[in-house]
Amino acid sequence: MIEKTLYELSSPGRVGVQFPDVDVPLSKLPDNFLRDDLPLPELSEIDVIRHYTHLSHLNYCLDEGFYPLGSCTMKYNPRVNEAMARLPGFAGAHPLQPVESIQGSLVVMYNLQEMLKEISGFDGITLQPAAGAQGEFVGVMIIRAYHLSRGDVKRKKMLIPDSAHGTNPASSAMIGYEVASIPTDRRGNVDLGALRAACDDTVAGIMITNPNTLGLFDENIVDVINIVHQAGGLVYGDGANMNALLGIVRPADLGIDVMHFNLHKTFSTPHGGGGPGSGPVGVNQKLVDFLPGPIVDVIEEGDDEMPPLYGFVQPKKSIGRVKAFHGHFGMHVRAFTYISMNGAEGLRTVAEMAVLNANYLLAKLKGTYKLPYDRICMHEFVLEGNFKDVPDVHALDIAKRLMDYNFHPPTNYFPLIVHEALMIEPTETESKQNIDAFADAMLNIAREAHESPELLQTAPHNTPIRRLDEVKAAKDLVLCCWLPEKAE
Ligand SMILES: *Cc1c(COP(=O)(O)O)cnc(C)c1O
Repeated sequence: MIEKTLYELSSPGRVGVQFPDVDVPLSKLPDNFLRDDLPLPELSEIDVIRHYTHLSHLNYCLDEGFYPLGSCTMKYNPRVNEAMARLPGFAGAHPLQPVESIQGSLVVMYNLQEMLKEISGFDGITLQPAAGAQGEFVGVMIIRAYHLSRGDVKRKKMLIPDSAHGTNPASSAMIGYEVASIPTDRRGNVDLGALRAACDDTVAGIMITNPNTLGLFDENIVDVINIVHQAGGLVYGDGANMNALLGIVRPADLGIDVMHFNLHKTFSTPHGGGGPGSGPVGVNQKLVDFLPGPIVDVIEEGDDEMPPLYGFVQPKKSIGRVKAFHGHFGMHVRAFTYISMNGAEGLRTVAEMAVLNANYLLAKLKGTYKLPYDRICMHEFVLEGNFKDVPDVHALDIAKRLMDYNFHPPTNYFPLIVHEALMIEPTETESKQNIDAFADAMLNIAREAHESPELLQTAPHNTPIRRLDEVKAAKDLVLCCWLPEKAE
């Protein structure tokens, strides 16, 4: 089923707006602005509203159902965040206003920085990066700036475990580092022997995700960090999995030097089409001078009569600005709201419930699906989406069949080290009933895989479009699929 476009719905003479009578003198537009041949659809307001509402219903979203997309932490985005971000004082602020006139916005940014410091143990924060991946890029730039500032010019190798998210090697390569892949051991930890062997005086650092993308807390994390530090390297923490650690482990206490947060994962700001991301970066004391600037700080202490004045400061050896203005401020308001609403106790409960929900779901599925690294998981886990006795059913088929059950599929084929990976993250915001319903669907699908595998291989059956050529869809994007025929 292909949706009609607004052009096809167009009917000559139909209008959706009424302009007021002109009450200013008319001026002549340049001739090339006025084009009779410019194809514009003619529609009423209700045509347009129905068209877009209908399109929105073709999409699956978090507000509609369970979304266990591993590594993405698709938790519910509380509506109070939206209400706060829409307050006119925040929504209407302009980044070029004099600081005296935007003190409220600066207080929010300053306090968000302080909260992220307290949660992570870091000494300095930049709110500028627009996403986790940009945070990684910034963090690796800071690592490079640190080594160069010490005249340590030999370091050009970044160590990255083979379970890492693809953005880690991409960020390192963009900075000009060589990437050395470190294998994972049988328990799902970084292989310490291989790590030691790779460590020499050309190592700039390691990028490590903990809990890692298998959903496992690295049992040797302190050793990993010490080995890299002893070689003179720095440790970059990929903080995408902070949801499992809130209020329990502070990454800086483990010895991590620099880390990004994903506000759109851990701190409930919207993902993707729902809004821009935000990837603040935290650093320890020896790196604070390298942070991108400007950074919000108190520029005049207050006293009994006057509150402090907030403004911007530039770190001494800053790598420079990495984003227009001050990052995605609306996301800072939402994350600040989320952290404030939860409080310290609440954040710890978030992590505990995220881990409990994942282990509950894992316990229901692991007898039926193979669990390659059989350990207690953190906030997510990775199964094999493949059965020995039905080798022609793949993780992709299971993912597509889940759509017939009205669930968003888990992340699949990632991490790369698990055969036919299905990476499942229920998050703390799902009820036991929802998790049970998802587990039932997964168990049914496993039964179908044995009894009628074609049901899976031909899924999905109810979606407007069936299976896409995903590579073509990403590489050969057609954003405008219909144009009127040109008049001869
Ligand atoms: C999501 C994610 C990233 C990248 O973050 P974005 O905000 O999507 O750019 C990096 N590493 C891991 C482990 C992730 O899950």
